[in-house]
Formats: sequence, structure tokens, C-alpha cells
Amino acid sequence: AKKTGPRFYRLFEPPMNADLIRFVETREALRVALERNEFELHYQPQIDLSTRRVIGVEALIRWRRPGVGLVMPGDFIEVAEESGLILPIGRWALYEACQQGAVWGQRGWSNLSIGVNLSAVQFREGQLGEDVLKALDASGLHPARLDLELTESTLLCHQETISSTLTSWKALGIRLSIDDFGTGYASLAYLKRFKADTIKIDRSFVQHLLTDQEDRAIVKAIIQVAQSLNVCTIAEGVESFELAEQLASMGCDQVQGFVYSKPLPPDAFEKWLLAAEV
Ligand code: C2E
Ligand code: CA
Ligand code: CA
Ligand code: CA
Repeated sequence: AKKTGPRFYRLFEPPMNADLIRFVETREALRVALERNEFELHYQPQIDLSTRRVIGVEALIRWRRPGVGLVMPGDFIEVAEESGLILPIGRWALYEACQQGAVWGQRGWSNLSIGVNLSAVQFREGQLGEDVLKALDASGLHPARLDLELTESTLLCHQETISSTLTSWKALGIRLSIDDFGTGYASLAYLKRFKADTIKIDRSFVQHLLTDQEDRAIVKAIIQVAQSLNVCTIAEGVESFELAEQLASMGCDQVQGFVYSKPLPPDAFEKWLLAAEV
């Protein structure tokens, strides 16, 4: 017969679930962080495989948390989204990235595209279209240099409302990228419907490309579809030159990854750019 152990009863129920406490604490800390301007954008280069030149950057947010150090987005973006704080945080990131892009334009890197990550929550609010225009206006960044990154799930979530926003951005010459491509559920038809300029092939398919035949088949298929639709491809998470070569031979257009540089603060990125041009 099956033996059942003694039953233990909890002596008390915790007043709040530990996750909830953490959520509330992080939310309040984020609110303060926003007021005190504790967020930073770090920049990672994107390299064109045909010319081997830097053609763009992606802005990635970090939180310089006093007494803690540099907090990565994986540790706070979710709370920011669930609490709605991603609206002001995302707006800050958009303005900051456009501003930085304009500065780099003035310093001679006038072809560098500036990638900004957008959260699905930002589309829910309905003010994003206007924010983008204002950020361009305030910074003087040319619209064709702004590259807005959204995910397949964002496209799926907001099918009805997103179309007109994306269409108006496209009309201005703003570029659109589909981030983490292949991990969501959007059909390939979305590529055509939303007129994406670029798809970012997710790191999970890229990482083991040299050894994994299935990943190679998936990446090959993505590149082929993209090529036939005239959509540019960029592979994320490229950690070796060998991998970059493999991707080049498969017809991938661009690469981004630690082998070139990890995301860097603006000053360090500028130094990296200068060194890369030599
Ligand atoms: P993502 O948009 O897919 O960004 C790429 C992530 O991969 C970045 O992580 C980057 O540092 C990392 N990465 C780049 N190259 C390599 C590589 O060669 N190997 C490996 N292992 N990783 C690489 P990070 O900066 O921690 O950002 C994580 C995610 O947080 C981003 O994923 C994006 O979804 C989100 N995020 C970052 N900044 C923002 C933002 O301003 N707004 C919003 N809404 N989300 C953001
Ligand atoms: Ca991204
Ligand atoms: Ca990405
Ligand atoms: Ca990604």
C-alpha cells in the first residue's frame, strides 16, 4: 500500500505572496528611478556582412541602481510593463536614443540607424505614434535613421490598431524591424502586411548554427523567405567570426553580437566606432 507521510499544516499564511511583494517593491523603485534619471541606454553595433561596416546600433536599456549596480532589462522590463511604467520609461528611451543618434549624426556617423525596442504595452496606449514624431522632431534625427523594433506578439496583439500607426511611420521613412523573429506565432504573411524592413533572426536559432542541422535549416528558410519578400535579415547573438562567416555564406545581410561588441555606454561606443573605422 502506498504510504502517506504526515500532513503538515502551515502555521500561518504569509500576508502577501513573495512575488507580489517583489513586484510592488520593484515597481516603486522604478518609479523613483524614473524621477531620478537612473536609466541609461547602451549601444550595440550592427555590421553589414557585405561591406563589413557598422551600419546601425541597437539601444538597450539599463538601470544604474544605487547600491546595486547595473540592472539588466530582463530584471525589470516585465514589472515596468505590468505596472504601466514602461510608458514613461519607453518614451524616455525613445527620446534619448533619437537624441544620441542625432549627436552621432553631427559627428559624422550620419548613416548609422538607431534601433529602439518597443513594448506591446506602448501600442495599447495610443500615444506612441505621436511620441515617435515628437522624438524625431525634438532631436532632429532623420526619420530614415530610426529603426523601431517590435515583436511578432506585438503585431498579433494589436492587429487592428497597429496597421495605421505602422503605415504612417512607413510613410515618413521610419524603418521597422521584427525582433526575435521565429519565436512568436506571427505568420510569414505579416512580413508583407506590415512592410517590415528587417527581421532579426532570434539568437536561439543562431547560437548553435555551426553544429545544429535543424537550426541551420530554420535560419536558411527564414533568409530565403526574407530575400523573396525583399526584407533584410540580421542575425542576433553572433558570438564568433566563424558564425558570422557561416551566416554570410547563407545570405544573411547583417549581424549583431558579442564578437563585435557587447552593448556599450555612449562614450565607450563612440570610441569603439572610431577604432572600428581604422
Ligand atoms: P533584445 O531586443 O532581443 O536584445 C538583444 C539582447 O541580446 C540584449 O540583451 C543584448 O545584450 C543581448 N546580446 C547581444 N549580443 C549577444 C550575444 O552575442 N550573445 C548573447 N548571449 N547575448 C547577446 P539585454 O540588453 O539584456 O536586453 C534584453 C531584452 O530586454 C531585449 O532583448 C529587449 O527585449 C528588452 N529591452 C532592452 N532594452 C529595451 C527598451 O529600451 N525597451 C523595451 N521595451 N525593451 C527593452
Ligand atoms: Ca531588440
Ligand atoms: Ca533583438
Ligand atoms: Ca531578440
